[in-house]
Amino acid sequence: MTYEKVLADVPVRLRIGDGWREAAGGRTFPVTNPADGAELLAVADASPADAVAALDAAVAAQAGWAATAPRERAEILRRAYEEIHHRRDELAALITLEMGKPLADAYAEIDYGADFFRWFAEEAVRIDGGYKVSPNGRGRILVMRQPVGPSLLVTPWNFPLAMATRKIGPALAAGCTVVVKPAEQTPLTTLALATILEYCGVPSGVVNVVTTSDPAGAVGALLSDGRLRKLSFTGSTEVGRLLLAQAAGTVLRTSMELGGNAPFLVFDDADLDAAVDGAILAKLRNMGEACTAANRFYVQRGVADAFAERLAARMADMRVAPGLEDGSQIGPLIDEAGRAKVGALVDDAVGKGARVLTGGAPLGGAGYFYPPTVLADVPGDAALLAEEIFGPVAPVLPFDTDEEAIGLANATEYGLVAYVYTRDLARALRTAEALETGMIGLNQGVVSNAAAPFGGVKQSGLGREGGPTGIDEYLETKYLAIEL
Ligand code: NAP
Repeated sequence: MTYEKVLADVPVRLRIGDGWREAAGGRTFPVTNPADGAELLAVADASPADAVAALDAAVAAQAGWAATAPRERAEILRRAYEEIHHRRDELAALITLEMGKPLADAYAEIDYGADFFRWFAEEAVRIDGGYKVSPNGRGRILVMRQPVGPSLLVTPWNFPLAMATRKIGPALAAGCTVVVKPAEQTPLTTLALATILEYCGVPSGVVNVVTTSDPAGAVGALLSDGRLRKLSFTGSTEVGRLLLAQAAGTVLRTSMELGGNAPFLVFDDADLDAAVDGAILAKLRNMGEACTAANRFYVQRGVADAFAERLAARMADMRVAPGLEDGSQIGPLIDEAGRAKVGALVDDAVGKGARVLTGGAPLGGAGYFYPPTVLADVPGDAALLAEEIFGPVAPVLPFDTDEEAIGLANATEYGLVAYVYTRDLARALRTAEALETGMIGLNQGVVSNAAAPFGGVKQSGLGREGGPTGIDEYLETKYLAIEL
C-alpha cells in the first residue's frame, strides 16, 4: 500500500443519491497535510443548492429505508464494521494524512469508530415500544418508536472517522436517511467511509455526503428546509449556539456534542504513577485536540509538585514527529490558526506568572508542531483555564480541600467530562456526584466507549451518543389511544 494509492482511491466528489457528482460549476477546495502544509487532494465544493440536492435524495429514500427490516439494516452496519477493519491500513493512513495524528492514534480511532457500527447493528433489532392499561381500566396505551426522518450530521475534524460513525450508526439503525457534512479540513475519511457503506449494501440516497468550504451556506440551506427533521452536530460550543438558534426556526430536533474544559483532579491518596499515566492519555491523545482532553490539572497540595515534575518528565520524552513517521507520538496541530491559539494561551499564562516545566514555544520548520508543555504556578486568571486549549499543554494548579477542588472543577460554562484520581471509594463517589459533567473517568484517562452514553451538560451539549440510549436521538415516540 502506498500513500499515493490511498489518496487515488478517495472519491473526491459529492455523494448524492445513487452516484458521485461534481459540485455546481465544478468548484473544488484543497485538503492539506498538517505535517507539511502540502495539498493532498482537491474535493468538490458544494453550494447550498448542492446541499439541497442531497436532502432531496435523503427525503426520497426515507420511506424505503424506514420500511427496511431492522435485521437487514443491522446486517449492513455489521458488514460495514467488518469492512472498516478490513481496510484499516488505508483508513489509518488517510486519517493521519489529513488530520495529522500519529498512526497509532489513527488505528485507535478506527477501533473506536468501527465499534459504533457494531454496537448500533446490535441495537437496530432491539427498538421496542409498549402496551399498558390506562389508569381508568378501559383504555389501552400503545407506544411505538419510529425514525425521526432525514437527518443532517455535521462533524468536526479531530476524529474524522469516529465522529461520522457515531452519528451514521444510530441514524441508519433507527431507519433515518442522512446528509453528512464533514469538516472542511478532513473530508477524505468520510468520503472513503461512504464508499464502504455503498459497498456494504446501503441503498441509494440513504447516505449522502456534502463537502463544502461554505458550511454556513450549505448547513443554513438545510436548516431552513422543512423537510429536514433532525440535526446532529459535533463541534465547538460557539458554532453549536448559532445552529441551535437556526434550528429554532423549524423547531428541529437537535443533538449537540460541543466543547469541553475537562478538569483532572488528583487527590493526595491517589496512586501517583497511575495518575501520571492517565494524565498522559487524557492530555496527549490526539495531541490534546479532543473535546475530552484534560484542560486543567488540579492536584492536592501535598503531591502537586511531585505530580507536575513526573508529568513534565514524561511529556518531555514524547517523540514529536509527522504522524506517518515510525515512533511518532505527537503529530502536528491541525493548522496554523490552531497552533497560534495554543501559543497565545501559553504566552498569556507565562506573562501572568506561570512557570514552564517543559515545552512552551512552537517548533520551527514545516508543519504545525507544538511540543508537549507543562506549566506550574498557573494564576487563576490565565485564559487557558477558561478556554479549550486544544493542544498538548497541561496547566497544573494546587488545591487544599475536596470542596475547593470540586468548586474549581465546576467553575466553567462547560460540563463534558472530568477525571478523578483517588483510592478512597467514598471520596470518589462524593466527588462524582458533585461534579457538573456528563461523564467522569475514575482512575482512568479515557472514557470513550461505543457502549456508553457520551455527552455533556451545561454548554457542552444536549443528548447522548452511543450506549443504549444513543439510538433514541433518532427515534420519535408515537402513542396510540385505544378504548376497549
Ligand atoms: P467547529 O468549528 O465548530 O466545526 C464543526 C463543524 O461545523 C464543521 O463541519 C464546520 O465546518 C461546521 N461549521 C462551522 N461553522 C459553521 C456555521 N457557521 N454553520 C454551519 N456549520 C458550521 O469545530 P471544529 O473546530 O471542527 O472541532 C473542534 C470542536 O469540536 C471543539 O470545540 C471540540 O471540543 C468539539 N468536539 C466536541 C465533541 C463532543 O463529542 N462533545 C467531539 C469532538 C469535538 P468547517 O469545517 O467547514 O468549518
